[in-house]
Amino acid sequence: AMAPSSKPAKTTTPHILLLPYPAQGHVNPFLRLAKALHARGLHVTFVHTEHNHGRLLRSRGLGAVTGAADGFRFETIPDGLPRSEHDATQDIWALCEATRRACPAHLRELVERLGRTEGVPPVTCVVADGAMGFAVHAAKDMGLLAYLFFTPSACGFLCYLNFDQLVKRGYVPFRDESYFTNGYLDTPVDWITGMISNLRLRDFPTFIRTTDADDVMLTINIKQCELDAPAADGILLNTYDDLERAALDAIRERLPNTFVLGPLGPEVSPPSYLPSLTSSLWKEDDRCVAWLDAQAADCSVMYVNFGSITVVTRDQMVEFARGLADAGSPFLWVVRPDMVRDDGDDDGKMPVPDGFAEEVAGRGLMVGWCDQEAVLGHRATGGFLSHCGWNSTLESLCAGVPMLCWPFFSEQVTNCRYACEEWGVGVQMPREAGRGEVEAAVRELMGDGDKAAAMRRKAAEWKEKAVRAVAAGGSSQRDLKRFVDEIARVKG
Ligand code: UDP
Repeated sequence: AMAPSSKPAKTTTPHILLLPYPAQGHVNPFLRLAKALHARGLHVTFVHTEHNHGRLLRSRGLGAVTGAADGFRFETIPDGLPRSEHDATQDIWALCEATRRACPAHLRELVERLGRTEGVPPVTCVVADGAMGFAVHAAKDMGLLAYLFFTPSACGFLCYLNFDQLVKRGYVPFRDESYFTNGYLDTPVDWITGMISNLRLRDFPTFIRTTDADDVMLTINIKQCELDAPAADGILLNTYDDLERAALDAIRERLPNTFVLGPLGPEVSPPSYLPSLTSSLWKEDDRCVAWLDAQAADCSVMYVNFGSITVVTRDQMVEFARGLADAGSPFLWVVRPDMVRDDGDDDGKMPVPDGFAEEVAGRGLMVGWCDQEAVLGHRATGGFLSHCGWNSTLESLCAGVPMLCWPFFSEQVTNCRYACEEWGVGVQMPREAGRGEVEAAVRELMGDGDKAAAMRRKAAEWKEKAVRAVAAGGSSQRDLKRFVDEIARVKG
């Protein structure tokens, strides 16, 4: 079904401009969506921030962002952050503020410039990140179709859609700091249609954990749901009906023109399609697959990765390291160079305990970044210790790999709750997991007990349903076609 569109772009070709929020967990699903749309004959402009464009050039080379196929171009806009603040990739707050201020004007300029560019059909449609909701209004002002792609799970998005209710009902803001630890987070929230009934305040995206009614992340999230999303022509989500039916029904109730397109994984966007176009902001260590190939037993490797934003303390790293070593399973552990927060000596070395790599040599491989889809899809990978970012969670489900969940922030806590309580593929790890707890959890997940076997069976079921959703006649395949038809109806 993936036919590259080799026709030269005609002026009547619908031209879709994609504007992801400039973080790894956003540009990945956006690029997969972009390729799927290009494969269906649309003209695509993919917008990176200048900063990320530079990172891609450094980590992937020129091929990642230039030399694209006919009808697939990359453009850049500034993210509005001062140069000196750019290394703070974990500073979500600053980035949200800066993009909100800087991007609308740049978006308008870019659309106008593309309109004057010879051989390029005029932009007809903008798909902006839900985290860049302001773009809807800028696009509508220019007379373009405007959609918001919310990259979290449907259960996470439904939580965000109910932030205003939490405020109206007096749950948020918290009365004072003691409420973070006094048991208040265990308050049940069972009145949201479409959510599991055993949801607690602690399972809501962590942005509700504030004592400030004007908290920036709280207000931005409410605004995106109350003002931006309803103003869009439609909403795009990266999940599938079988996985999140109840949450999706509730979302469609509020936002009827919702397109459920996931999983935007290898079936929708095969790595072989426009293979040079990739979105990893870190350089992938290419030893991983060879190392996995060398593992004789299937499903024997514990894969550990906390994504692109999580930071941990050096003490916590030591507990993970000891626990992993003591559990005995071979492990592949991705440790970003910037992952340890309280690391005084920024010596560029991997922040694991001294001598650890030598100690576990042969059965433990540690790298700075990997091709996660390839690792999760490898026959040797048997479990995933994850921070439950939505992409990681979905990629794990689609690879049929059960999880140990160690959520860090945002709707990762919601994904964790669903993985453990609803999807039956996860076990939650305590926040301050000690080495003994890490060891026990890994042993259980990788062992042959009943609980692990049941989780593996569930994971395999979700994988099968995911494949069906994106196959011909599947729910996500149908929604993708509906989306392409809808945006193709408006010609430039
Ligand atoms: N990823 C990767 N290699 C790594 C770590 C992460 O390719 O070593 C990818 C992963 O496959 C996913 C994205 O980066 O697509 C991370 O997104 P997620 O939502 O899981 O977490 P975030 O980084 O936003 O916290």
